[in-house]
Amino acid sequence: MDYVSTRNSSKNFKFKDVFIKGLAEDGGLYIPKSLHKYNQKDLDSFKNLKYSDLAKKIIYPFIGDFMSENDLGKLVDKSYSVFREKNVVNLIKIGNRSVLELFHGPTLAFKDIAMQLLGNFYEYYLDSTNEKINIVVATSGDTGAAAIDAIKGKKNLNIFVLHPNNRISSVQRKLMTTGSEKNVFNIAVNGNFDDCQNLVKAMFADKSFSNSIKMSGVNSINWARIIAQSVYYFYSYLLIEDKTHPINFSVPTGNFGDVYAGYLAKKMGLPIGKLLVATNQNDILHRAISKGEYNIEKVLETISPSMDIQLASNFERLLYDINNSSDIETVSAMKDIKEKGRYKIDKDKLDKINLDFLSARMSEEEILKVIKNIYEKFEIILDPHTAIGYGSFDKVNIEGNNIVLATAHPCKFPDAIKKSIKLNANLPKELMFILDEKENYDIIDNNLDKIKKHIKEKI
Ligand SMILES: *Cc1c(COP(=O)(O)O)cnc(C)c1O
Repeated sequence: MDYVSTRNSSKNFKFKDVFIKGLAEDGGLYIPKSLHKYNQKDLDSFKNLKYSDLAKKIIYPFIGDFMSENDLGKLVDKSYSVFREKNVVNLIKIGNRSVLELFHGPTLAFKDIAMQLLGNFYEYYLDSTNEKINIVVATSGDTGAAAIDAIKGKKNLNIFVLHPNNRISSVQRKLMTTGSEKNVFNIAVNGNFDDCQNLVKAMFADKSFSNSIKMSGVNSINWARIIAQSVYYFYSYLLIEDKTHPINFSVPTGNFGDVYAGYLAKKMGLPIGKLLVATNQNDILHRAISKGEYNIEKVLETISPSMDIQLASNFERLLYDINNSSDIETVSAMKDIKEKGRYKIDKDKLDKINLDFLSARMSEEEILKVIKNIYEKFEIILDPHTAIGYGSFDKVNIEGNNIVLATAHPCKFPDAIKKSIKLNANLPKELMFILDEKENYDIIDNNLDKIKKHIKEKI
């Protein structure tokens, strides 16, 4: 499969570049030139597959020139053997909606599903090259934990994770800091998540630094993550018995990676009705999708921190698409966003977006209310991100089989749960031990030179 950048569609890339580089040299995002399409007969033939076997089928066409089908099979099986559910995910019914639990991996959020695979892809690639790579990533909590678990103990790889000191929950922090592997380095930055992200961006942009340490990234723009995430849309479709009504998904959204994976599945032929982009108060995507106003505002801290974003990086992939794969128009849109902090989506393009996407926004109070209502009615505790997905279906009028993506386990966000229902959401028993483990992390000022020096010293 050939890939291009959203900012230059004349140059072709292979999956290896797409995966290792993450971001294209021109600042654009990688996107495949064409897709493998599935018809109803193909989908019917997937019906009784195990999750991991379905994953092999969906992923292979994207990466066929990177590894053999047999090698992919081994890595997929290895990646998904660490999940607490045999079939990785679990579909339950809550009221008149289905909820797709994606948090049964080692660090209790959906990010494990893609990240475990990425970790094994890196190891596979480095085994054949002799290179040593340093992964540097900023996190508001979930990405870092998932990345650490996927990379820890692997040969030829180090991982440095920057999190905002004292601004993530203690469970989130302990999931990152309690390991003893020598290739994991946690840095608590005296600053907020934006500061952490800016530090990582600045390190990438400093070519002499980033080349000297062979720096690589695993953030949500990495195409390999998107492919891995599209699998559970297929899988949950196959689990729904009644296919006479449209199947819609509500996706708690930050960087637009997870919901874009649903759009990708739809483009590959999966008959999805609507994708509901569910946001918290940081609602840039809701303003974009409902009114065509993609305007940057200041980030607010919320009880759903993994969705606290200013700009949704993966949205560029959709902009490219609705501009009929025009790199020129995408470059011009991204220039507006960078220079003016705003981009107006024309009516005809917005109509096109609304064929596939709707959106909603949930306030802090509304989120707490959903958690309370669901607990009182069904004795099930939703995490705040999932509650946004669940509550968003009440804000739009879509009929059919409505599926909510449950993106995190409630025990990761104890403060919000306590505030809503005055209860502690316990960790799964397999993970209780982290509460008493020794933590390892260094606290460093929000200072680029200090962070670079620290990284250089450790490698
Ligand atoms: C990362 C994350 C999200 C947002 O996903 P995107 O792909 O960035 O849109 C939502 N919920 C949880 C729990 C997350 O960790």
